[in-house]
Amino acid sequence: MAWRIVKQPNGLLARFSDIVDDFTHQNMTEAEALEICREYLGIVESEKKVLAGVQDWKPWTNGVLGSGLDRWNESIKTIKSVHGQKTAEQRVQADSPRRDGMNKCEVCEEIIDGGDMCDDGVYRCVGCAIEDGFDIQTGNPV
Ligand SMILES: [Zn+2]
Repeated sequence: MAWRIVKQPNGLLARFSDIVDDFTHQNMTEAEALEICREYLGIVESEKKVLAGVQDWKPWTNGVLGSGLDRWNESIKTIKSVHGQKTAEQRVQADSPRRDGMNKCEVCEEIIDGGDMCDDGVYRCVGCAIEDGFDIQTGNPV
């Protein structure tokens, strides 16, 4: 098992890689996590992998339920010992609750699939980001 899906304290999911001893993705929904798994695995294995994360199976077990944060704590511990305290803190900070309206442009209020948090902290759809002068890739003012 070179990587696993990990449930974050905020309820969203991360992907932890044993290759880099770090998260490669954070703050994914179940659907997003499944999509990531599908890049590597078949559908059955992918669903199992996501379920293991959602139910927080204890690391290295098949179906033994953890406390809900066992995988997260284990991952943060590994990141801390391999990459240091600062990196571990950054990963913990990234576990911020997904804001309400995160799937909704805060300017035009349209429900959107993609979009970005712009430099001013406002979540915008691509159209509004361009209109308001932000680079949609970086969120920085153009
Ligand atoms: Zn918009």
